[in-house]
Amino acid sequence: MKILVLNSGSSSIKFQLLDTAERKVMCKGLVERVGLADAIFNYQPAGGDKSKEVLPIPDHLAGIKLILDTLTSPGRGVIASLAELAAVGHRIVHGGEKIQHSVLLCEESLRLIDECTPLAPLHNPANLMGVHAIQKLLPDVPNVGVFDTAFHATMPKPAYVYALDYSYYEKHGIRRFGFHGTSHQYVAMRAAEILGVRLDDFNCITCHLGNGVSLTAVRGGKSVDTTLGFGTCCGVPMGTRCGDVDPAVLMHLIDELGMTSRQVCDLMYKGSGLKGISGVSHDMRDVEEAAAKGHERAELALEIFAHAARKHIAALATNLGDRIDAVIFTAGIGENGVEIRERICQGLGFMGVRIDPERNKVRGKEAVVSPEGAPVKVMVVPTNEELMIALDTEAIVKASRA
Ligand code: ADP
Repeated sequence: MKILVLNSGSSSIKFQLLDTAERKVMCKGLVERVGLADAIFNYQPAGGDKSKEVLPIPDHLAGIKLILDTLTSPGRGVIASLAELAAVGHRIVHGGEKIQHSVLLCEESLRLIDECTPLAPLHNPANLMGVHAIQKLLPDVPNVGVFDTAFHATMPKPAYVYALDYSYYEKHGIRRFGFHGTSHQYVAMRAAEILGVRLDDFNCITCHLGNGVSLTAVRGGKSVDTTLGFGTCCGVPMGTRCGDVDPAVLMHLIDELGMTSRQVCDLMYKGSGLKGISGVSHDMRDVEEAAAKGHERAELALEIFAHAARKHIAALATNLGDRIDAVIFTAGIGENGVEIRERICQGLGFMGVRIDPERNKVRGKEAVVSPEGAPVKVMVVPTNEELMIALDTEAIVKASRA
């Protein structure tokens, strides 16, 4: 099936056209600065040259019309007619408790997504703008929503209910949701394929280490626990986010230091993590470079990052029953960070997790980097959220026709 995958943000629209039969990208691109007179349209057909155009794009409808026109345009288009599009798969950030898997987007599901807006106020409304634009431009093509939170809907209650007064869960829906679900789902699926094992009999820890970081325990192909929670600031420290901090610290900042909740929020989300500790950068490459030159706080930032990741891998493994088959690294740092992967795995030998330094010299490619015959495979699997969205979209569309 030919499926258009859209990731609509508030001022950007990322897209890929995929052929699911061959798992191939036919073309991809990005519309930036939507709403402005000097918006940017980046486009690349598979095997062709990248192009960049500056032009006015007043809204999401205009941006998506431009994408659709380009798909069929003579010369740089990749399909003869829009009738070839079997469906559009939309990345949607939050499905809350009500949407627990990918769904065909109808009036009712769109209403539920809208109801989840307070949980993702920046993302869900922008995601919906993309859906509404496609509904206008391609009224006969099915739309499927694939949610960042949905993969974690299989977590059992003890993993997602916070030990606050229970009424905060019951009355206000305060709970762990988890994010990066599409990425965790894809790399777990792909790792099982690479190892030639059944996904429903495969237990792993997936480590999505990008600017955002989350680790997930995947048991038999299903998420059973994850490090991100109600929001996206807990677990392992990130580029600029703090990861786990004793809540008493936050109360102290407000009550004793007189900070406002906005200031505390900015500190936690924008001024912490690799950037806050190192004082150098939020970017792992810069931090590693500074540490290599002897910058003490950059070195400390790397150690804090590795310590937290290691601790969470070990903790998450307690959700896997009596067997862990693999630890999988993905996203910018996970796929490319040769040294940080080694740092994280040092100290996990007690649970059979070891890295082979020679095999580990790999960036951005699928690989098994544990020693030959090791009980737990340590793997690098580049994430591919767009492909996962396309595969899920195909499955939902086929099921709806059956
Ligand atoms: P996002 O969460 O924004 O999608 P990415 O998955 O692209 O982020 O990850 C960005 C992170 O990946 C940055 O911290 C960057 O430094 C890191 N990264 C990219 N290449 C390397 C590399 N060669 N070594 C270590 N870290 C890398």
